[in-house]
Amino acid sequence: VFLLRCPKVTGKVIGLVKIQAFEGQGMSEHPEGAGPKRSAVESVKENSRALRGSIGEELARETDKFSDADKNLLKFHGSYQQEDRDARKMRRADGLGKHHIFMVRCKIPGGRLTADQYLALDELAGRYANGTLRFTSRQGIQFHGVLKKDLKAHVAAINGTLLTTLGACGDVNRNVMAPPAPRADGIYGELQETARRLAAHFAPRTRGYHEVWLDGKAIAEPEDAEPIYGKAYLPRKFKMGLALPEDNSVDVYAQDLGLLALVQDGRVAGYNFLVGGGMGMSHGNANTFPFLARPIAYVPREEVVPTAEAVVKLFRDYGNRADRKRARIKYLVHDWGVDRFRAVLADYVKGPLALPRSVEVTGFPLHLGAHPQGDGKWYYGVSIENGRVKDEGGLRLRSGLRALVERFRPELRLTPMQDVLFCGLDGAALPQLENVLDEHGIARPERLSTVRKHSMSCPAIPTCGLAISEAERALPGILDELEAELARLGLKGEALSVRMTGCPNGCARPYQSDVGIVGRSGDKYVLYVGGNVVGDRLNFELQDLVPRGQIVSALRPLLERFREERREGEGFGDFCQRLGVDQARASLAHATS
Ligand code: SF4
Repeated sequence: VFLLRCPKVTGKVIGLVKIQAFEGQGMSEHPEGAGPKRSAVESVKENSRALRGSIGEELARETDKFSDADKNLLKFHGSYQQEDRDARKMRRADGLGKHHIFMVRCKIPGGRLTADQYLALDELAGRYANGTLRFTSRQGIQFHGVLKKDLKAHVAAINGTLLTTLGACGDVNRNVMAPPAPRADGIYGELQETARRLAAHFAPRTRGYHEVWLDGKAIAEPEDAEPIYGKAYLPRKFKMGLALPEDNSVDVYAQDLGLLALVQDGRVAGYNFLVGGGMGMSHGNANTFPFLARPIAYVPREEVVPTAEAVVKLFRDYGNRADRKRARIKYLVHDWGVDRFRAVLADYVKGPLALPRSVEVTGFPLHLGAHPQGDGKWYYGVSIENGRVKDEGGLRLRSGLRALVERFRPELRLTPMQDVLFCGLDGAALPQLENVLDEHGIARPERLSTVRKHSMSCPAIPTCGLAISEAERALPGILDELEAELARLGLKGEALSVRMTGCPNGCARPYQSDVGIVGRSGDKYVLYVGGNVVGDRLNFELQDLVPRGQIVSALRPLLERFREERREGEGFGDFCQRLGVDQARASLAHATS
């Protein structure tokens, strides 16, 4: 920051000029160890003794929260310290402070879990959390409302099911995603197995996790405790997902590292490595933006793990450790460009990289309803609105899923759209399964509108501390209105994706959908259009500061034009893209003038 001094009055300060350093002008030119001042979180990580901090000691104290430093480290252990924001006003009036609660996330590679694991997690939701489970947009499961006094027992119990929370959050590789369908053709199995291998390879090696949560014996970490991450771990979170051209259900372009499989002669020959996807941005900060992953290289299947390690190490060394808002690998890809990124990556793999093959994604199956696996068995996908598993009124989702798992003992697969597949079923079980759904008020997939099945939201208020606006609790009502509007326009069966988040961080990937709704300020949202179901392009801002109650009416003029002017096979997002930003916005102005 420079002081501007008055040229007439000696020494008088008349203003300040802030010069901001951008990546590409020095920030990301230097491998770890050089560059501008690091963010405070960096020294917390570096001095954490491989993520231990003083979490163990703090757990033993009779407080309801952690220190700021431990709060940061806790994320690596799979938990966020949060506040019950619904209770805030009342507690303030009563002269009370925040009611601290914790979110706990299980890392479940490819979304696979056994019947026993599911039943154990369901039981824990009642014992330690708020009586609900939440299937996440990355094929994990979250618990909300856990109290600090129960945190250790809760995490230990999760580990007792042979699942973990380690690395579910924090500046490491997060849950690895894969298409969930249990197809017996070998290809889906290969992707699931690769997801499992990648998850194991990039799991933090620290023994601190066991020491803190499982009363493991304290053992000094060796000097190279984290051979991939190093002492300061990654500059920011890192996400991986695998996809097939005909099954992009993981949203491969939204991944820091997306692996798009190329199939030859009935087997996976290799993967296009797509690098730099990421949805997060900050309102009013043009230096942050959503970005789709770019094809960097083609990698034979045998070299997937070492090449993925090279990408992670490159990010470790060159990622921005000064400004956490610019710390994702997408900014390296954006600022350097693909050719330079590939050249630097080639140094890490110690050899040339093959250019990416020409391949596009073409499908985004939801896997709902009954499908043959190809081995004589069936799987059945159940839609879970916004991933929230709870009993409420006539919709007894939690009880219904538990009853299904107890009765049929299926393997379960969580989908990237927050739904669940029951796998390995006999054909004869399918009608019985649907009866159980009916008994619990759970809609069979064919009875749900296409738009609702293609929609999702993040949790937002009351649990997420970053939420500016409602999302999970607001989207069902918006969809009720949108369904009525689509029916009125004769567009009822239209495959339209709607994604909503309570802030611009984009956890439900709202910048790729036909319609994106992003919390802006209390009850007002930024409305985006122009993405698509398949997830291979970004949408654009249609209107800012749209009140929640006016979202559907804001879309109405465009939907009407879509009905009149669409081309054959054109989706709503395609149509908006064809219109372009100016014309799409002009439609609104025209409608409101
Ligand atoms: Fe929270 Fe924002 Fe993520 Fe929603 S998108 S869960 S509000 S951080």
